[in-house]
Amino acid sequence: GSAGAKAGKSRDILEKMDESGKNCVVFYGSQTGTAEDYATRLAKEGSSRFGLKTMTADLEEYDYENLDKFPEDKVAMFVLATYGEGEPTDNAVEFYEFIGGEDVSFSEKGGAEEKPLSSLRYVAFGLGNNTYEHYNLMVRNVTKYLDRLGANRVGEAGEGDDGAGTMEEDFLAWKEPMWTALAESMNLEEREAVYEPTFEVTEKPDMDSSDDTVYLGEPNKNHLEGHSKGPYNAHNPYIAPIAESKELFNDEKRNCLHMEIDISGSNLSYTTGDHVAVWPTNAGREVDRFLNMINLGDKKDTVIVAKGLDATSKVPFPSPTTYDAVARYHIEICAPVSRQFVASLAQFAPNETIKAEMTRLGGDKEAFAKEVAKKHFNIAQFLEYMSEGKPWDKVPFTIFIESLNKIQPRYYSISSSSLVQKNKISITAVVESVEIPGAAHVVKGVTTNYLLALKQKQHGASNPDPHGLNYAITGPRNKYDGIHVPVHVRHSNFKLPSDPSKPIIMIGPGTGVAPFRGFVQERAQMAKDGETVGKSILFFGCRKSTEDFLYQDEWKEYQSALGENFELVTAFSRETAKKVYVQHRLKERAAEINELLEQKAYFYVCGDAANMAREVNEVLAQIICEQRGVSKQKAEEIVKTMRASNAYQEDVWS
Ligand code: NAP
Repeated sequence: GSAGAKAGKSRDILEKMDESGKNCVVFYGSQTGTAEDYATRLAKEGSSRFGLKTMTADLEEYDYENLDKFPEDKVAMFVLATYGEGEPTDNAVEFYEFIGGEDVSFSEKGGAEEKPLSSLRYVAFGLGNNTYEHYNLMVRNVTKYLDRLGANRVGEAGEGDDGAGTMEEDFLAWKEPMWTALAESMNLEEREAVYEPTFEVTEKPDMDSSDDTVYLGEPNKNHLEGHSKGPYNAHNPYIAPIAESKELFNDEKRNCLHMEIDISGSNLSYTTGDHVAVWPTNAGREVDRFLNMINLGDKKDTVIVAKGLDATSKVPFPSPTTYDAVARYHIEICAPVSRQFVASLAQFAPNETIKAEMTRLGGDKEAFAKEVAKKHFNIAQFLEYMSEGKPWDKVPFTIFIESLNKIQPRYYSISSSSLVQKNKISITAVVESVEIPGAAHVVKGVTTNYLLALKQKQHGASNPDPHGLNYAITGPRNKYDGIHVPVHVRHSNFKLPSDPSKPIIMIGPGTGVAPFRGFVQERAQMAKDGETVGKSILFFGCRKSTEDFLYQDEWKEYQSALGENFELVTAFSRETAKKVYVQHRLKERAAEINELLEQKAYFYVCGDAANMAREVNEVLAQIICEQRGVSKQKAEEIVKTMRASNAYQEDVWS
């Protein structure tokens, strides 16, 4: 945690607030950027509605020994994501360990003081996922620790649930009573929210966008200057060549991509079970729609300089740049529009009727769900719908920078073994193109469609852009020859047992099979190298054996290397009148599964969290209950213990 120190900045939050005249700091513990985005929104709302002098702060950039001197007339807000199995996000580890530590001691009052934080007023919101066992553990524990240290919590801590898909509404439902309580506690007067930009965007009409100081989508200075170098990480992607790409499905309507990403020469490394992060680009079609709707279509290549209006507002992209580059590479313009944003855009509506309509939708949860959310509009589609296509020319561009999320890398479970191909990462991804009932458009996944466009281009397809999405293929300034994609690697705890003779049971329907292709590849290699490899049994499910049976031919190769020690159990859901799923197959093999577990088998699940992973967990408990003749409750405890000791591992998504 020395990002701040390195830059020679102070790690003293009180000093920082004093210097810049702030009375509200919003700390965030964020892994992928979502918590940071919520923190930014809170800070923004605090200043526009209540006149608070707000700033956001990365938890890792400050020290906390002087929190006991936090002034009574100020407030700290904590926006805390829980990561993985109840862990703090990387940037919150030090804070979490400090504040929860047995011997937490502060600069002045020390640990002996009964209530060292009695002058700290705070509010808290957590981001979690209820499909994980330790739901929102971060915010729960941090509030527990702070309360124990005597801090004054205002209102209840909020909990947002990504698993149920209600994060946004959970946030909105939490923050209203929080603001009321905080306004009372700090004697704040609410005023009609007036938009006060925290950034300033200046157009530079006399600068040429081809000037080599202008960022056109390069992630940082190294990339701009053309000498990018490692370490490659979440701030600095490696622009990796795609060595190979192919279609895995045999289905006219659905695509599933297999890609090989070449990381040789990057110093990036991975181990089997890790995730690869892909940095997406918005589709040209959506970039144009967005810029046209806010009347910037004609100026898309105008050079702009963005600046924070005070020392604490950080521009989320490098500058000088262009409107086009911001929309294409930096802000999430394709995400569903949020209710709060609709409310705050009302003041910029092209006429009074639209303004009233925006205010109504922004203030009414049910109406918004029915009339907007259900149609899956992105921001530009929504503006189009409201004004019947007429551009909105009164909206300041800065409000999009502040209110839309920063574009985030998407994570894929690596589908190759690092033992077999240490310099090539495989990806297995279904291209998202979903017809949602009630939606006004076919919803196209930003990143998987980008990857599909890269694949089409690589294969010189006669129609490289069948959906008219118009992605930029060769990157900023067309400077990468061949087909490339920006990536970095995220290490995971989803790992094979260190002892290869241990049996493993893998459950991976659909693209959930990705990491297991890596696992089986690795074990096949070990067997070829003469190692003793334990039983490996894979449950794979898909719709039809003739349509979406992933890696159908490869399994036979692994079979010949592993012999009887490998078994593939399939569940085809749409070949018979009644659905057959992986968990049904698991149940059929109850005796054998139990036996393997008694031999200390590791149990792995990858894929959909909301239904599949939960049902598999239940079936496993049933198997244990029946086979061992223990109570249902006891069986559930056994499964929990397996999870706690890493004998049951999940890599799931919602
Ligand atoms: P899929 O074709 O949706 O599902 C694979 C198999 O699982 C099918 O046979 C399906 O049967 C079956 N299935 C459905 N419900 C089940 C349940 N409750 N328990 C067990 N099996 C069940 O393929 P997929 O690869 O899993 O999913 C593709 C979608 O997942 C993509 O469109 C994408 O949106 C999403 N995805 C998300 C991420 C992420 O990180 N967020 C990553 C990868 C994929 P039926 O369909 O016949 O019922």
